[in-house]
Amino acid sequence: MTARSRTRSEAEFERALKVIPGGVNSPARAFGAVGGHPVVIDRGEGQYLYDIDGNRYIDFVGSWGPHILGHLHPQVMSGIEEALKKGTSFGAPTVLESELAELVAELVPSVEKVRMVNSGTEAAMSAIRLARGYTGRDKIIKFAGCYHGHVDSLLVQAGSGALTLGAPSSPGVPQGCTADTLVLEYNDIEQLKETFSQAGDQIAGVILEPVVGNMGVVLPEPGFLETVRELCTQHQSVFIMDEVMTGFRVALGGAQQRFGVTPDICMLGKVIGGGMPVGAYGGKAEIMDAISPVGSVYQAGTLSGNPIAMASGIATLQCLRETNPYPELEAQTQRLTKGLSAAASKAGLPHTLAECGSMFTLFFNPEKVTSFAVSSQNDTERFARYFQGMLDRGIYLPCSQFEANFASTCMTDEDIDQTIQAAEEVLQSIG
Ligand code: PLP
Repeated sequence: MTARSRTRSEAEFERALKVIPGGVNSPARAFGAVGGHPVVIDRGEGQYLYDIDGNRYIDFVGSWGPHILGHLHPQVMSGIEEALKKGTSFGAPTVLESELAELVAELVPSVEKVRMVNSGTEAAMSAIRLARGYTGRDKIIKFAGCYHGHVDSLLVQAGSGALTLGAPSSPGVPQGCTADTLVLEYNDIEQLKETFSQAGDQIAGVILEPVVGNMGVVLPEPGFLETVRELCTQHQSVFIMDEVMTGFRVALGGAQQRFGVTPDICMLGKVIGGGMPVGAYGGKAEIMDAISPVGSVYQAGTLSGNPIAMASGIATLQCLRETNPYPELEAQTQRLTKGLSAAASKAGLPHTLAECGSMFTLFFNPEKVTSFAVSSQNDTERFARYFQGMLDRGIYLPCSQFEANFASTCMTDEDIDQTIQAAEEVLQSIG
């Protein structure tokens, strides 16, 4: 292993600490869970990141999901460049907005109409407002360990039982904001049925990640998504699938296509913007027409549908549609995850590996992770040592056990071999 100097990164991060809270513009980027300081990035190219000290890393973060095609993809960059020549923002309709909306409606099974916003958080905030406005009800069911951005009413701690009132998990969120949020255990079908049988006529909607990425990767158990669908239909509640992470990632049509379960509304983000700030929520035309200016549920945005962001999203989705990289990307990811699992077994480390398409998590926990209760039993100290060892060997992983790793279409056999070899060395050393 060649020693990597990160002297410039260290100095730049010290500078950032003086003027940016924690030195970062999003806490997920801080190395709080793994120790040390973040690497300061200079540029990306394909599957690689380069830091300002000139070190190269194989990137399994992909800007936390958007870069399924890798960095600086030629088709995406030329889409952005063309749009840039015309100006950056007009606050008036453009053809690009309709083009991206048509692509989304064509590719995502549940979407007839779609509204663009600027982030996944905005999509979540708007989707639950729409569900409430459309049904005239207040209560929203969410699941412990699912993250839907930093929306006040969805920032609710894990562990609450059925029908218990959610407790805010961040200072600054008033109790009143979470009083209508019911927090249930992911994959617990009985608890969900019980909740609907007690309060079905008050439930505006159920929001969930169809494959959870935010407690590490957790898959829906057979029948779970189908039960949510049935109960929402039966009780006229809105089923909101948060496909911010899974959309265009686990299949071209997202998890709803992969699992064959269609929500009423879905939220999109990350890949839809190809690295530019885009979020979206879309679904049945009848529900979507409840938002302003057609309906009375208010939602707006100065920069929503921004032309540069639209151009980036269009090029990304077109490229995914034309090349259908999913089978190969999934096979490549499986080769990697098999290698990681074998390396952990060889080192005698208790672990499980969860994966869906090109997202995966190596958990330092022998039990299959089905819920937040299981996920929270992970050996996070061991994860921190794994993370640092991999970083030192040029492998850039998410800096928390409770995040998904993402593979990209430009990863080569050599990248995969190098990652497995690094994991073998690191896992042996932390056993
Ligand atoms: N929903 C899911 C499933 C996410 O993973 C995220 C972010 O990671 C969000 C919503 C929030 O998106 P954003 O960070 O763009 O606000």
